[in-house]
Amino acid sequence: MPNRKNVIFKGVAVSSGIAIGRVFLLEDDEFCLIHKEIPANAKDAEKKRLDDAIEKTRTELKIIYGKIHDILGESYSHIANVHIMILDDPSFRRDIYKLINDGANAEYAVFKVLDKIIRSFETIKDDYFKERKVDIQDVGKKILGNLLGKQRKNLANLGEDAVVVSHNLTPADTVAIREKLVKGFVTDIGGKTSHTAIMAQGLAIPAIVGLKAISSQARTGDIIILDGDKGEVILNPTLEIVEKYKKEYDEQSVKRKELTKLKDLSAETTDNHKVSIFANIDNPDEVAIILKNGATGIGLYRTEFMYFNRDSMPSEQEHFEKYSKVVKEMSAYPTIIRTVDLGGDKLAKMGLLNIEQEDNPFLGLRAIRLCLKYPKIFIDQLRGILKASVHGKIRLMYPMISGIDELREANEILERVKVDLRKENVEFDEEMEIGVMIEVPSAAMIIDIIAKEVDFVSIGTNDLIQYALAVDRINENVANLYDPLHPAILRFVKQIVNECHKAGINVGMCGEMAGDSYYTPILLGLGLDEFSVSPAKVPTIKRAIRGVSFTDVQKAADEILKCGDKGSIVKILNAINVVAN
Ligand code: PEP
Ligand code: MG
Repeated sequence: MPNRKNVIFKGVAVSSGIAIGRVFLLEDDEFCLIHKEIPANAKDAEKKRLDDAIEKTRTELKIIYGKIHDILGESYSHIANVHIMILDDPSFRRDIYKLINDGANAEYAVFKVLDKIIRSFETIKDDYFKERKVDIQDVGKKILGNLLGKQRKNLANLGEDAVVVSHNLTPADTVAIREKLVKGFVTDIGGKTSHTAIMAQGLAIPAIVGLKAISSQARTGDIIILDGDKGEVILNPTLEIVEKYKKEYDEQSVKRKELTKLKDLSAETTDNHKVSIFANIDNPDEVAIILKNGATGIGLYRTEFMYFNRDSMPSEQEHFEKYSKVVKEMSAYPTIIRTVDLGGDKLAKMGLLNIEQEDNPFLGLRAIRLCLKYPKIFIDQLRGILKASVHGKIRLMYPMISGIDELREANEILERVKVDLRKENVEFDEEMEIGVMIEVPSAAMIIDIIAKEVDFVSIGTNDLIQYALAVDRINENVANLYDPLHPAILRFVKQIVNECHKAGINVGMCGEMAGDSYYTPILLGLGLDEFSVSPAKVPTIKRAIRGVSFTDVQKAADEILKCGDKGSIVKILNAINVVAN
């Protein structure tokens, strides 16, 4: 029996905040499936039992679907809809009936059919379809649960101090959790882009995924602390540690309340150097929260989200409607719409394009490369964006630009689209600004050339760090090497800012580095003009900016740029952060 006192787990932080509570272990269902011979005269009754279980499952899924839709909006509800589609597949029921006709009981027949489908998924190369195996398993568990009168351990028993611990969580579990207002949740598997992680952020519940073995070590009732910012979980902590975190939690609550007062204040240092704080969004539902938190623009609208969990590409009209809604709500504030960044892990999850699985998808046909190779996708989106541009202040941004020719090629397509729209007498903003993300080291190296041909740039540190340091951003085995303070990254940022300012254009940052207040002084000191962060982090970053003097952070940045090792950099940054707090 491993030591279960004060055990620390490290995982992937996906939704911030501290939670202190008791473990509610949500175990995977285990069904005891016995093969029973069904006599000929009972086969119809057995089929009826199956039909009832399927209908019950469908009703449950529809309720879940409705709840997801109400709470999180259209784009998330597709997740539950996939489950309903599996139930509706006629061949699924036909195969089960066939086994019942051969004399099997309904549970065993369901199990056998699912097992066969799941096995067939194992041979599939495409990651998207391979992952759908989990959806089949989820649906199967629900039908078997209804046949056996057994449910996944009842979430109704959840107390208010519950931190849900599970090997994995389905979207349906996640919605049930939200209804119970649990403190947080943690899982063994999953990465930043898993459905669960995406939904946790939308629900603003502290959450950590990818903890590997937490569900096998935790027991219901154990005390658990979850630090959703550090990605750390402590199981059965000492009293001293509980007290420490309670204090931190209380401090965080007070700070959060205090932070709401900053909403209408400017993002300005103590010596009046002003910058902008924008927010990153994935779907239009997030606009209300970013305005409530005082963001003065959208610095990154990740449009890929609308391509997931569906069978067809979004139409020009769909693009137009989504973007118009967002920019109307943003009113006078700007919205930077990034053209679609499909590819890498994101293409695998989409399954819309018939593209061979690549050996190195992050170095493959991704983002602007994919759009240039498949211009129809690009053109539909550009037309939608341009049409929406009369309804608000849109800026257009290309992802993953690696050289000037790519930028020019994208701009040529944009110009052709504009010519067509003019011919069609469709109005659009002729002055719409065009920018690029700087997230590939080659683009950072030639920023002086790029800066002369764009209206703005935004630094994508998530990828810039991955590509510059050769560290896969979603691989936990090298997470310790993924370092925003690596001198190479800081020099890149400095060079990008300097060259852009020389060219007279603004520089933003929309990677996660911009949303971590620890880095705010160095980024300010390096001269960043705009911080684009996740909606919940807007007030924290504003506070960090308002707590320092520009002169001080510039001096600190000059000192930091001379450092070659992390220790010296951290020392200077810690000193300035202590003063700021
Ligand atoms: C980035 O790379 O920093 C970025 C913001 O883009 P994404 O995380 O969507 O790749
Ligand atoms: Mg990126």
